[in-house]
Amino acid sequence: MDDLKYGKRNKRGDWAPNEPVAYAPLFAFPPKLKALLHWLPHYFFPWNIIFAASAVAYWAWVIPPVKTMQTISLGWTAWLYAVNAICVLLFYGAFEVHLYVLKRQENRFKYNGKFPSEQRSNAFWFENQNIDNILRTFLSGVTIWTGVEVVMLWAYANGYAPWLTFTENPWTLALIALVVPIIHEFHFFCIHRLIHTPLLYKWVHSVHHNSVNPSPWSSLSMHPIEHLLYFGTAFYHLILPSNPIIMLYQLHIAGFGAIPGHVGFDKVEVAGDKLVDSHAYAHYLHHKYFEVNYGDATIPLDKWFGTWHDGSPEGEARMQERYRKRKAKLAARKAAEEAKGATE
Ligand SMILES: [Zn+2]
Ligand SMILES: [Zn+2]
Repeated sequence: MDDLKYGKRNKRGDWAPNEPVAYAPLFAFPPKLKALLHWLPHYFFPWNIIFAASAVAYWAWVIPPVKTMQTISLGWTAWLYAVNAICVLLFYGAFEVHLYVLKRQENRFKYNGKFPSEQRSNAFWFENQNIDNILRTFLSGVTIWTGVEVVMLWAYANGYAPWLTFTENPWTLALIALVVPIIHEFHFFCIHRLIHTPLLYKWVHSVHHNSVNPSPWSSLSMHPIEHLLYFGTAFYHLILPSNPIIMLYQLHIAGFGAIPGHVGFDKVEVAGDKLVDSHAYAHYLHHKYFEVNYGDATIPLDKWFGTWHDGSPEGEARMQERYRKRKAKLAARKAAEEAKGATE
């Protein structure tokens, strides 16, 4: 597979796609019907269908009977933690082994030419990105994910959350299921913007940003407060007319869905020359530049707030201009304070 048909590689060995990242035509005005129809399958395949299917599978084989869930107990909580941990190990591990251990596609489509194992940093526990990321994933990531899951299931079992059935309200539930990825992106943008404020960045979000060159295990490598905010996306279903399976879908988009954005490769080669898009470039640029792309490319929130970087030279120029303006503003403020100090 020749990745230079799709992008270019610089002297450092970093690969970048030829095409800038485009927003989904969902919020385009005037509406672009043809583009929308062309884009629509990507909204479902392959990622969201996988997470919806895993939610259904959980409901069928993992989630305990409603009566059990009316009281929170260690037994079913530990069982859910174990299943979540095993699924994360298998799903994340598959990407890690395929792309980073066996390096089956070497550095084809890899944004950053270097592999994290080649770089040690004392920002990480044991100076090792993988060990740090894996420990954070299982110690607080899967634990808080399971905690939110248990609270939500307990709420459903006791009638504290609106529980519609698929037989009685198929259309309402279909609509809610359809907007689950949009809820995820809206929620993620809001909490992500919040934790980029100076104090929260320093104490909370910098943990996630230690992985400047993200790899699969970076996906859930976060501070526990960020885990709580991140998985808090399930709490929307305390007020939405929804269903526990759709709530699980919401959680799986957060838990398993974090991986495509951190996989570090633009495309994953599967079965010979078939390519699966990771849609990771926008978030890769966030890890690289920190102050762009707080959201992904479904809702144009970054565009509306002026923080969008699509990977093009124009996107780069917009970012530099923003930095320049901010620097000028800070310098002007400092000069004004100094002038004030001199007259006092
Ligand atoms: Zn990230
Ligand atoms: Zn961030």
